[in-house]
Amino acid sequence: KDKISKPDISRAKSTELYNKAKTYFPGGVNSPVRAFKSVYGTPLFIKKGDGAYLWDADDNQFIDFCCSWGPLILGHNHPAIREKVIEVMQNGMSFGAPTALENELAELIISNNPFIEKIRFNSSGTEAVMSAIRLARGYTKRDKILKFEGCYHGHVDALLVKAGSGLVTFGETSSAGVPKAFADETIVVALNDKEALAKAFEDFKDQIAAVIMEPIPANNGLLLQHTEFLQYLREICTANGTLLIFDEVISGFRVGFAGAAGLYQIKPDIITYGKIIGGGLPVGAYGASAQIMSSVSPEGPVYQAGTLSGNPVAMAAGIAQLTELLKPGFYEDQNQRTKDFVNDIVEYASQRNYPLVISRVGSIFWLAFDTNAVIRKAEDIDPKSMDHFKKLHLELLNRGVYMGPSGYEVGFVSAAHTTAILDTAKQAIFESLDVVF
Ligand code: PLP
Repeated sequence: KDKISKPDISRAKSTELYNKAKTYFPGGVNSPVRAFKSVYGTPLFIKKGDGAYLWDADDNQFIDFCCSWGPLILGHNHPAIREKVIEVMQNGMSFGAPTALENELAELIISNNPFIEKIRFNSSGTEAVMSAIRLARGYTKRDKILKFEGCYHGHVDALLVKAGSGLVTFGETSSAGVPKAFADETIVVALNDKEALAKAFEDFKDQIAAVIMEPIPANNGLLLQHTEFLQYLREICTANGTLLIFDEVISGFRVGFAGAAGLYQIKPDIITYGKIIGGGLPVGAYGASAQIMSSVSPEGPVYQAGTLSGNPVAMAAGIAQLTELLKPGFYEDQNQRTKDFVNDIVEYASQRNYPLVISRVGSIFWLAFDTNAVIRKAEDIDPKSMDHFKKLHLELLNRGVYMGPSGYEVGFVSAAHTTAILDTAKQAIFESLDVVF
Protein backbone atom coordinates (compact mmCIF):
# COMPACT_ATOMS: atom_id res chain seq x y z
CA LYS A 1 0.00 0.00 0.00
CA ASP A 2 1.34 3.44 -0.93
CA LYS A 3 1.62 5.73 2.05
CA ILE A 4 1.49 9.09 0.37
CA SER A 5 1.18 12.14 2.53
CA LYS A 6 0.11 15.26 0.66
CA PRO A 7 2.32 18.32 1.06
CA ASP A 8 1.27 20.46 3.99
CA ILE A 9 -1.13 23.27 3.17
CA SER A 10 0.27 26.78 3.33
CA ARG A 11 -0.29 28.41 6.69
CA ALA A 12 1.81 31.51 6.03
CA LYS A 13 -0.98 34.04 6.56
CA SER A 14 -2.57 32.12 9.42
CA THR A 15 0.82 31.86 11.11
CA GLU A 16 1.43 35.57 10.70
CA LEU A 17 -1.98 36.31 12.25
CA TYR A 18 -1.33 33.83 15.03
CA ASN A 19 2.01 35.42 15.87
CA LYS A 20 0.30 38.78 16.09
CA ALA A 21 -2.54 37.30 18.15
CA LYS A 22 -0.01 35.93 20.64
CA THR A 23 0.97 39.50 21.43
CA TYR A 24 -2.67 40.31 22.32
CA PHE A 25 -4.18 37.14 23.80
CA PRO A 26 -2.90 34.49 26.20
CA GLY A 27 -1.81 31.63 23.95
CA GLY A 28 -2.92 33.69 20.95
CA VAL A 29 -6.58 32.74 21.29
CA ASN A 30 -9.81 33.61 23.06
CA SER A 31 -10.71 29.99 23.86
CA PRO A 32 -8.02 27.38 24.59
CA VAL A 33 -8.69 24.44 22.23
CA ARG A 34 -8.51 26.81 19.25
CA ALA A 35 -4.73 27.05 19.77
CA PHE A 36 -4.09 23.67 18.04
CA LYS A 37 -2.03 22.44 21.03
CA SER A 38 -3.14 18.83 20.49
CA VAL A 39 -2.60 18.70 16.73
CA TYR A 40 0.13 19.69 14.28
CA GLY A 41 0.89 23.21 13.17
CA THR A 42 -0.42 26.63 14.02
CA PRO A 43 -4.15 27.38 14.19
CA LEU A 44 -5.92 28.28 10.98
CA PHE A 45 -7.40 31.75 10.97
CA ILE A 46 -10.75 31.62 9.24
CA LYS A 47 -11.94 34.32 6.93
CA LYS A 48 -15.15 32.91 5.55
CA GLY A 49 -17.70 30.16 5.90
CA ASP A 50 -20.44 29.13 3.50
CA GLY A 51 -22.62 26.03 3.75
CA ALA A 52 -20.41 23.05 4.60
CA TYR A 53 -17.22 24.96 3.74
CA LEU A 54 -14.63 27.11 5.47
CA TRP A 55 -11.86 29.22 3.97
CA ASP A 56 -8.76 30.19 5.90
CA ALA A 57 -6.57 33.26 5.58
CA ASP A 58 -4.35 31.42 3.07
CA ASP A 59 -7.42 30.65 0.90
CA ASN A 60 -7.39 26.95 1.67
CA GLN A 61 -10.90 25.51 1.43
CA PHE A 62 -12.17 22.87 3.86
CA ILE A 63 -15.25 20.77 4.41
CA ASP A 64 -15.97 21.73 8.01
CA PHE A 65 -17.00 19.14 10.61
CA CYS A 66 -16.42 21.44 13.56
CA CYS A 67 -19.24 23.82 12.62
CA SER A 68 -18.25 26.34 15.28
CA TRP A 69 -18.36 23.48 17.82
CA GLY A 70 -21.99 22.66 17.14
CA PRO A 71 -24.20 25.73 16.71
CA LEU A 72 -24.24 25.65 12.92
CA ILE A 73 -26.70 22.82 12.33
CA LEU A 74 -27.72 24.48 9.06
CA GLY A 75 -24.14 25.12 7.96
CA HIS A 76 -22.31 28.41 7.63
CA ASN A 77 -23.99 31.66 6.73
CA HIS A 78 -27.43 30.19 6.13
CA PRO A 79 -29.50 32.68 4.11
CA ALA A 80 -32.59 32.44 6.35
CA ILE A 81 -30.52 33.37 9.42
CA ARG A 82 -28.49 36.03 7.67
CA GLU A 83 -31.58 37.75 6.25
CA LYS A 84 -33.49 37.69 9.53
CA VAL A 85 -30.49 39.07 11.42
CA ILE A 86 -29.99 41.89 8.92
CA GLU A 87 -33.72 42.73 9.02
CA VAL A 88 -33.74 42.94 12.82
CA MET A 89 -30.46 44.88 12.97
CA GLN A 90 -32.01 47.68 10.91
CA ASN A 91 -33.93 48.59 14.07
CA GLY A 92 -31.00 48.61 16.46
CA MET A 93 -28.75 46.12 18.21
CA SER A 94 -29.67 46.14 21.88
CA PHE A 95 -32.20 47.83 24.14
CA GLY A 96 -31.84 46.25 27.56
CA ALA A 97 -35.63 46.08 27.55
CA PRO A 98 -38.02 43.32 26.46
CA THR A 99 -38.77 42.77 22.78
CA ALA A 100 -41.36 40.65 20.95
CA LEU A 101 -38.50 38.56 19.55
CA GLU A 102 -37.88 37.01 22.98
CA ASN A 103 -41.52 35.90 23.12
CA GLU A 104 -41.25 34.50 19.63
CA LEU A 105 -38.17 32.37 20.34
CA ALA A 106 -39.59 31.21 23.69
CA GLU A 107 -42.85 30.17 22.07
CA LEU A 108 -41.05 28.24 19.34
CA ILE A 109 -39.15 26.30 21.99
CA ILE A 110 -41.81 25.77 24.62
CA SER A 111 -44.65 24.85 22.28
CA ASN A 112 -42.50 22.21 20.59
CA ASN A 113 -40.88 20.78 23.70
CA PRO A 114 -42.88 18.96 26.38
CA PHE A 115 -40.11 19.19 28.97
CA ILE A 116 -40.10 22.84 29.94
CA GLU A 117 -42.82 25.38 30.71
CA LYS A 118 -40.74 28.50 31.25
CA ILE A 119 -37.36 29.61 30.01
CA ARG A 120 -34.79 32.32 30.71
CA PHE A 121 -32.38 33.49 27.99
CA ASN A 122 -28.81 34.54 28.60
CA SER A 123 -25.70 34.69 26.44
CA SER A 124 -23.71 31.43 26.69
CA GLY A 125 -23.86 27.81 27.67
CA THR A 126 -21.65 28.52 30.67
CA GLU A 127 -24.04 31.17 31.92
CA ALA A 128 -26.99 28.85 31.40
CA VAL A 129 -25.34 26.11 33.46
CA MET A 130 -24.19 28.49 36.18
CA SER A 131 -27.72 29.85 36.50
CA ALA A 132 -29.32 26.40 36.45
CA ILE A 133 -27.09 25.30 39.31
CA ARG A 134 -27.89 28.38 41.36
CA LEU A 135 -31.58 27.75 40.70
CA ALA A 136 -31.30 24.11 41.79
CA ARG A 137 -29.48 25.13 44.97
CA GLY A 138 -31.96 27.90 45.73
CA TYR A 139 -34.94 25.69 45.04
CA THR A 140 -33.78 22.67 47.06
CA LYS A 141 -31.90 24.66 49.72
CA ARG A 142 -29.02 22.21 49.39
CA ASP A 143 -25.43 22.90 48.30
CA LYS A 144 -23.85 19.85 46.71
CA ILE A 145 -23.83 19.16 42.98
CA LEU A 146 -23.07 15.79 41.43
CA LYS A 147 -21.43 15.65 38.02
CA PHE A 148 -19.96 12.90 35.87
CA GLU A 149 -16.35 12.36 34.98
CA GLY A 150 -15.68 13.61 31.46
CA CYS A 151 -18.77 15.81 31.21
CA TYR A 152 -18.03 19.46 30.45
CA HIS A 153 -20.46 22.14 31.52
CA GLY A 154 -18.63 25.30 30.56
CA HIS A 155 -16.05 27.08 32.66
CA VAL A 156 -18.20 27.31 35.80
CA ASP A 157 -15.86 27.22 38.83
CA ALA A 158 -17.34 24.29 40.67
CA LEU A 159 -17.75 22.20 37.53
CA LEU A 160 -14.16 22.35 36.31
CA VAL A 161 -13.52 19.00 37.87
CA LYS A 162 -12.78 16.10 35.52
CA ALA A 163 -14.41 18.05 32.78
CA GLY A 164 -13.41 16.81 29.35
CA SER A 165 -11.73 18.00 26.18
CA GLY A 166 -10.14 21.37 26.89
CA LEU A 167 -8.93 20.20 30.26
CA VAL A 168 -7.99 16.68 29.25
CA THR A 169 -6.20 18.16 26.27
CA PHE A 170 -4.09 20.23 28.60
CA GLY A 171 -3.38 17.30 30.88
CA GLU A 172 -5.23 18.77 33.83
CA THR A 173 -8.35 17.57 35.51
CA SER A 174 -9.15 20.89 37.09
CA SER A 175 -8.26 24.55 36.80
CA ALA A 176 -6.06 26.82 38.86
CA GLY A 177 -8.07 29.57 40.48
CA VAL A 178 -10.96 27.40 41.67
CA PRO A 179 -11.12 27.53 45.47
CA LYS A 180 -10.94 24.09 47.01
CA ALA A 181 -14.08 24.93 48.94
CA PHE A 182 -16.00 25.32 45.65
CA ALA A 183 -14.75 22.04 44.21
CA ASP A 184 -15.58 20.39 47.55
CA GLU A 185 -19.24 21.01 46.81
CA THR A 186 -18.90 18.95 43.62
CA ILE A 187 -19.18 15.19 43.72
CA VAL A 188 -17.75 13.41 40.68
CA VAL A 189 -18.94 9.97 39.63
CA ALA A 190 -17.95 7.78 36.65
CA LEU A 191 -20.42 7.66 33.77
CA ASN A 192 -22.67 4.70 33.16
CA ASP A 193 -21.99 3.27 36.64
CA LYS A 194 -25.15 2.66 38.70
CA GLU A 195 -23.34 1.42 41.80
CA ALA A 196 -21.08 4.48 42.01
CA LEU A 197 -24.11 6.73 41.64
CA ALA A 198 -26.08 4.90 44.32
CA LYS A 199 -23.12 5.10 46.69
CA ALA A 200 -22.77 8.85 46.18
CA PHE A 201 -26.44 9.33 47.05
CA GLU A 202 -25.91 7.25 50.21
CA ASP A 203 -22.74 9.08 51.21
CA PHE A 204 -24.31 12.49 50.73
CA LYS A 205 -27.87 11.79 51.78
CA ASP A 206 -30.15 14.84 51.65
CA GLN A 207 -27.25 17.06 50.57
CA ILE A 208 -27.34 16.86 46.77
CA ALA A 209 -29.19 19.78 45.21
CA ALA A 210 -28.78 18.57 41.66
CA VAL A 211 -27.18 16.07 39.37
CA ILE A 212 -25.95 17.76 36.23
CA MET A 213 -25.26 15.64 33.20
CA GLU A 214 -24.73 15.86 29.49
CA PRO A 215 -27.28 13.14 28.65
CA ILE A 216 -25.20 12.65 25.52
CA PRO A 217 -21.68 13.25 26.84
CA ALA A 218 -19.89 14.86 23.90
CA ASN A 219 -16.94 16.75 25.32
CA ASN A 220 -14.60 13.88 26.10
CA GLY A 221 -15.30 11.81 23.07
CA LEU A 222 -18.90 10.80 22.51
CA LEU A 223 -19.63 8.56 25.49
CA LEU A 224 -23.07 7.20 24.71
CA GLN A 225 -24.91 6.07 27.83
CA HIS A 226 -27.29 3.15 28.23
CA THR A 227 -30.88 4.45 28.33
CA GLU A 228 -31.33 2.27 31.39
CA PHE A 229 -28.60 4.24 33.18
CA LEU A 230 -30.34 7.52 32.37
CA GLN A 231 -33.65 6.10 33.62
CA TYR A 232 -31.98 4.99 36.83
CA LEU A 233 -30.51 8.47 37.23
CA ARG A 234 -33.99 9.97 36.86
CA GLU A 235 -35.39 7.60 39.49
CA ILE A 236 -32.66 8.07 42.06
CA CYS A 237 -32.90 11.87 41.74
CA THR A 238 -36.67 11.78 42.29
CA ALA A 239 -36.34 9.41 45.25
CA ASN A 240 -33.83 11.75 46.92
CA GLY A 241 -35.46 15.12 46.25
CA THR A 242 -32.54 16.00 43.96
CA LEU A 243 -33.14 17.95 40.76
CA LEU A 244 -31.91 16.43 37.51
CA ILE A 245 -30.31 18.95 35.16
CA PHE A 246 -29.76 17.85 31.58
CA ASP A 247 -27.06 20.00 30.06
CA GLU A 248 -28.26 20.01 26.47
CA VAL A 249 -25.92 22.72 25.23
CA ILE A 250 -24.72 20.29 22.54
CA SER A 251 -27.58 17.77 22.31
CA GLY A 252 -30.42 20.32 22.45
CA PHE A 253 -32.04 20.79 19.02
CA ARG A 254 -29.27 18.56 17.63
CA VAL A 255 -30.48 14.99 18.09
CA GLY A 256 -34.07 16.17 17.64
CA PHE A 257 -35.95 19.36 18.45
CA ALA A 258 -36.57 18.17 22.01
CA GLY A 259 -32.95 17.10 22.40
CA ALA A 260 -31.79 14.12 24.40
CA ALA A 261 -34.78 14.40 26.76
CA GLY A 262 -37.00 13.78 23.73
CA LEU A 263 -34.75 11.08 22.31
CA TYR A 264 -34.65 9.05 25.53
CA GLN A 265 -38.09 10.18 26.73
CA ILE A 266 -36.72 11.18 30.12
CA LYS A 267 -37.96 14.35 31.77
CA PRO A 268 -35.24 16.28 33.57
CA ASP A 269 -36.18 19.00 36.07
CA ILE A 270 -34.06 21.71 34.44
CA ILE A 271 -32.58 21.85 30.93
CA THR A 272 -29.74 24.09 29.78
CA TYR A 273 -29.29 25.13 26.16
CA GLY A 274 -26.67 26.98 24.14
CA LYS A 275 -25.05 26.67 20.71
CA ILE A 276 -27.89 25.82 18.24
CA ILE A 277 -30.44 27.94 20.10
CA GLY A 278 -28.58 31.08 18.97
CA GLY A 279 -28.07 30.19 15.30
CA GLY A 280 -24.38 31.14 15.58
CA LEU A 281 -24.87 34.19 17.80
CA PRO A 282 -24.35 34.13 21.58
CA VAL A 283 -27.43 32.69 23.28
CA GLY A 284 -27.78 30.37 26.25
CA ALA A 285 -30.95 29.42 28.09
CA TYR A 286 -32.28 27.38 30.93
CA GLY A 287 -35.80 26.11 31.31
CA ALA A 288 -37.91 24.08 33.73
CA SER A 289 -41.45 23.72 35.02
CA ALA A 290 -43.30 26.95 35.84
CA GLN A 291 -43.03 25.98 39.50
CA ILE A 292 -39.24 25.63 39.51
CA MET A 293 -38.77 28.72 37.34
CA SER A 294 -40.87 30.74 39.78
CA SER A 295 -37.80 30.75 42.03
CA VAL A 296 -35.95 32.92 39.51
CA SER A 297 -35.69 36.65 40.09
CA PRO A 298 -37.80 38.85 39.93
CA GLU A 299 -40.50 36.23 40.65
CA GLY A 300 -38.40 34.43 43.25
CA PRO A 301 -35.24 34.71 45.34
CA VAL A 302 -32.65 33.24 42.91
CA TYR A 303 -30.90 36.21 41.32
CA GLN A 304 -29.75 36.07 37.71
CA ALA A 305 -29.45 38.85 35.13
CA GLY A 306 -27.66 39.96 31.97
CA THR A 307 -27.14 43.20 30.03
CA LEU A 308 -27.35 41.42 26.69
CA SER A 309 -29.76 38.63 27.75
CA GLY A 310 -32.43 38.16 25.08
CA ASN A 311 -30.47 40.39 22.71
CA PRO A 312 -32.74 41.02 19.69
CA VAL A 313 -30.15 40.19 17.03
CA ALA A 314 -29.28 36.91 18.77
CA MET A 315 -32.98 36.09 19.23
CA ALA A 316 -33.53 36.70 15.52
CA ALA A 317 -30.79 34.23 14.59
CA GLY A 318 -32.25 31.66 16.97
CA ILE A 319 -35.77 32.10 15.59
CA ALA A 320 -34.60 31.72 11.99
CA GLN A 321 -32.54 28.61 12.77
CA LEU A 322 -35.13 26.81 14.91
CA THR A 323 -37.84 27.53 12.34
CA GLU A 324 -35.83 25.57 9.76
CA LEU A 325 -35.40 22.66 12.17
CA LEU A 326 -39.16 22.29 12.57
CA LYS A 327 -39.66 21.61 8.86
CA PRO A 328 -40.87 18.04 8.28
CA GLY A 329 -38.14 15.46 7.82
CA PHE A 330 -35.30 17.77 8.84
CA TYR A 331 -33.79 15.48 11.46
CA GLU A 332 -34.53 12.21 9.67
CA ASP A 333 -32.65 13.42 6.60
CA GLN A 334 -29.66 14.81 8.47
CA ASN A 335 -29.36 11.81 10.75
CA GLN A 336 -29.58 9.36 7.85
CA ARG A 337 -26.86 11.17 5.89
CA THR A 338 -24.63 11.09 8.95
CA LYS A 339 -25.35 7.43 9.57
CA ASP A 340 -24.47 6.44 5.99
CA PHE A 341 -21.29 8.52 6.11
CA VAL A 342 -20.18 6.98 9.38
CA ASN A 343 -21.07 3.42 8.36
CA ASP A 344 -18.99 3.67 5.19
CA ILE A 345 -15.97 4.87 7.15
CA VAL A 346 -16.36 2.13 9.73
CA GLU A 347 -16.62 -0.47 6.96
CA TYR A 348 -13.55 0.87 5.18
CA ALA A 349 -11.54 0.79 8.40
CA SER A 350 -12.73 -2.61 9.53
CA GLN A 351 -11.94 -4.23 6.15
CA ARG A 352 -8.36 -3.06 6.63
CA ASN A 353 -8.17 -3.82 10.37
CA TYR A 354 -7.57 -0.20 11.27
CA PRO A 355 -8.29 0.32 14.99
CA LEU A 356 -11.16 2.75 14.47
CA VAL A 357 -14.59 2.81 16.03
CA ILE A 358 -17.08 5.61 15.51
CA SER A 359 -19.76 6.55 18.02
CA ARG A 360 -22.71 8.40 16.53
CA VAL A 361 -26.03 9.80 17.58
CA GLY A 362 -28.08 11.97 15.24
CA SER A 363 -25.61 14.14 13.36
CA ILE A 364 -22.86 13.99 16.02
CA PHE A 365 -19.99 11.57 15.53
CA TRP A 366 -16.68 10.76 17.19
CA LEU A 367 -13.72 8.91 15.75
CA ALA A 368 -12.12 6.75 18.44
CA PHE A 369 -8.90 4.97 17.67
CA ASP A 370 -9.61 1.94 19.71
CA THR A 371 -10.81 -1.59 19.34
CA ASN A 372 -13.54 -1.32 21.96
CA ALA A 373 -16.97 -1.54 20.35
CA VAL A 374 -18.41 1.36 22.32
CA ILE A 375 -16.63 3.57 24.84
CA ARG A 376 -18.98 4.81 27.54
CA LYS A 377 -16.63 6.11 30.21
CA ALA A 378 -13.93 8.79 30.12
CA GLU A 379 -11.46 6.47 31.86
CA ASP A 380 -11.77 3.90 29.04
CA ILE A 381 -10.20 6.23 26.47
CA ASP A 382 -6.57 5.36 25.86
CA PRO A 383 -4.69 8.70 25.78
CA LYS A 384 -2.17 7.09 23.39
CA SER A 385 -4.91 6.76 20.77
CA MET A 386 -4.80 10.55 20.48
CA ASP A 387 -1.52 10.23 18.53
CA HIS A 388 -3.49 8.64 15.70
CA PHE A 389 -5.97 11.50 15.75
CA LYS A 390 -3.17 14.01 15.63
CA LYS A 391 -1.78 12.43 12.47
CA LEU A 392 -5.22 12.07 10.95
CA HIS A 393 -6.01 15.71 11.64
CA LEU A 394 -3.00 16.86 9.63
CA GLU A 395 -3.68 14.47 6.76
CA LEU A 396 -7.28 15.68 6.64
CA LEU A 397 -6.31 19.34 6.60
CA ASN A 398 -3.97 18.59 3.72
CA ARG A 399 -6.91 17.02 1.90
CA GLY A 400 -9.41 19.80 2.59
CA VAL A 401 -11.26 18.47 5.64
CA TYR A 402 -11.40 20.42 8.91
CA MET A 403 -12.12 18.60 12.19
CA GLY A 404 -12.05 20.20 15.63
CA PRO A 405 -8.38 20.30 16.70
CA SER A 406 -8.55 17.66 19.46
CA GLY A 407 -9.20 13.95 19.40
CA TYR A 408 -11.54 14.35 22.36
CA GLU A 409 -13.88 16.55 20.34
CA VAL A 410 -16.85 15.31 18.34
CA GLY A 411 -17.69 16.12 14.73
CA PHE A 412 -20.93 17.67 13.50
CA VAL A 413 -22.73 17.18 10.20
CA SER A 414 -24.92 20.08 9.08
CA ALA A 415 -27.85 20.37 6.68
CA ALA A 416 -25.37 21.81 4.18
CA HIS A 417 -23.30 18.61 4.17
CA THR A 418 -24.96 17.02 1.14
CA THR A 419 -24.35 13.40 0.23
CA ALA A 420 -21.98 14.56 -2.52
CA ILE A 421 -19.96 16.66 -0.07
CA LEU A 422 -19.90 13.82 2.44
CA ASP A 423 -18.66 11.48 -0.31
CA THR A 424 -15.78 13.86 -1.03
CA ALA A 425 -14.96 14.05 2.68
CA LYS A 426 -15.12 10.27 2.92
CA GLN A 427 -12.51 9.83 0.19
CA ALA A 428 -10.22 12.23 2.06
CA ILE A 429 -10.79 10.27 5.26
CA PHE A 430 -10.03 6.95 3.52
CA GLU A 431 -6.79 8.31 2.05
CA SER A 432 -5.81 9.80 5.38
CA LEU A 433 -6.48 6.58 7.27
CA ASP A 434 -4.28 4.75 4.75
CA VAL A 435 -1.46 7.14 5.56
CA VAL A 436 -1.94 6.95 9.32
CA PHE A 437 -2.10 3.15 9.52
N1 PLP B 1 -22.25 22.63 28.39
C1 PLP B 1 -21.87 21.83 27.40
C2 PLP B 1 -22.41 20.43 27.32
C3 PLP B 1 -20.98 22.29 26.41
O1 PLP B 1 -20.59 21.49 25.42
C4 PLP B 1 -20.51 23.62 26.51
C5 PLP B 1 -19.55 24.15 25.51
O2 PLP B 1 -19.00 23.45 24.72
C6 PLP B 1 -20.95 24.41 27.57
C7 PLP B 1 -21.83 23.90 28.48
C8 PLP B 1 -20.49 25.83 27.68
O3 PLP B 1 -21.04 26.60 26.67
P1 PLP B 1 -20.33 27.97 26.22
O4 PLP B 1 -19.05 27.58 25.57
O5 PLP B 1 -21.33 28.60 25.29
O6 PLP B 1 -20.13 28.78 27.45
